[in-house]
Amino acid sequence: MSKVRTRFAPSPTGRMHVGNLRSALYEFLIAKHAGGEFMLRIEDTDQERYVEGAVEIIYRTMEKTGLVHDEGPDKDGGFGPYVQSERMATGIYMKYAKELVEKGEAYYCFCDKERLSTLKSEVVEGKEITVYDKHCASLSKEEVEANLAAGKPFVIRQNIPNEGTTTFHDELYGDITVENAELDDMILIKSDGYPTYNFANVVDDHTMNITHVVRGNEYLSSSPKYQRLYDAFGWESPTYIHLPLITDENHKKLSKRSGHSSFEDLIEQGFITEAIVNYIALLGWSPEDNREIFTLDELIRDFDYTRISKSPAVFDYVKLKWMNGEYIKAMDFDAFYEMAEPYIKEVITKDLDLKKIAAMVKTRIEVFPDIKEHIDFFETLPEYDTAMYTHKKMKTNEETSLEVLKEMLPILEAQDDYSNDALYATLCKFVEEKGVKNGYVMWPIRTAVSGKQMTPGGATELMELLGKEESIARIKKGIELLSK
Ligand code: GLU
Repeated sequence: MSKVRTRFAPSPTGRMHVGNLRSALYEFLIAKHAGGEFMLRIEDTDQERYVEGAVEIIYRTMEKTGLVHDEGPDKDGGFGPYVQSERMATGIYMKYAKELVEKGEAYYCFCDKERLSTLKSEVVEGKEITVYDKHCASLSKEEVEANLAAGKPFVIRQNIPNEGTTTFHDELYGDITVENAELDDMILIKSDGYPTYNFANVVDDHTMNITHVVRGNEYLSSSPKYQRLYDAFGWESPTYIHLPLITDENHKKLSKRSGHSSFEDLIEQGFITEAIVNYIALLGWSPEDNREIFTLDELIRDFDYTRISKSPAVFDYVKLKWMNGEYIKAMDFDAFYEMAEPYIKEVITKDLDLKKIAAMVKTRIEVFPDIKEHIDFFETLPEYDTAMYTHKKMKTNEETSLEVLKEMLPILEAQDDYSNDALYATLCKFVEEKGVKNGYVMWPIRTAVSGKQMTPGGATELMELLGKEESIARIKKGIELLSK
């Protein structure tokens, strides 16, 4: 068996779509699981779709996610160049296209736009393509040569017979056989001299010794045509693994409109890289034991591509958030604080102990922006409804709360030690003297100092952070509101 070699072959067309990142991850895992090599190839032959800065996004994402390539434009492994436009400059695609022409498996086509516009077209995967009528397939060698000598623009098309069938194998879908009549004579070399993806992927995967190709199943319908190219050259085709479609919650293809279709979107929304990678690993794949939390190393150890599912993978944003929350809980505090601090500082300008505040929310959030709604009351007391003082289980209502706040006020004014422990002791003493349940006192105090139904800490923890002056002011405000 030859060494496993996989490749991630993105086109630099913008942000890193979740589907692309999944292909990269699976390619990486297949290679690393088998002790093989993972390669990066930049597919930039579609000049119209090229986006400035997109190559940098590819490098940055791969580095951030830990999908380290063994070979690529920046790491020569002897199979370069690794950028298709640079490969084209070596003449490799034209050389192989001409070989196919010699074999009768491809032909020069000189049809101009005008003629092509009169041909039938067909919608394939949302794109309108012209079904070419083989007009130029019957040109004689002399006619072709004369046209070339006259400098007529041309493309080179694959020559697919109208009879017979073509079969190819996918690891997940098994053998797929299609009627040749259904396959169009696709363009291999475009009029600008660039190869199409359809041609370049075959030439490159073969000449770069790629053993496993993982890609979205939008390529499944073209794969018989690729298979014909492999067969025409007499090359062994790689192992194909076509991945299920990723959909949104409405079972529509995950698109930009969802607002979370790219890695960069997710980072901007406060997700942790490791959680994103973990979640994406499960978009179509599951381990035998249905475990869900994996480090990258554990994925390398456990990834088995035969367990990839064919059914569409729903991108479940709620689940990703849950997973992110699990990662946040497991993070060490310093790393957490570094990421949390900017969000905390967005809402808190007062001189408060931000680390203590961060520690309070660490187990309560799923994504970093959640922090804000948990802590905004530290900055300013929100306007609140006094109905919040009523709590059935604590046996409190507005009347009992007013009484407790009024009785506690002088005690809290007399106290100078505002540490959580000292405050807690004071409150407990009061509870005991009064002969009531803890919540009877804690609930109104916590409500008064926070103005919120839910807080990241108990009454005395909040007071410690707020300090004496602010705590007293808020309790007075509570008394004022309840006295109305
Ligand atoms: N350049 C293609 C894309 O970005 C790669 C498909 C493949 O992996 O073969 O969709």
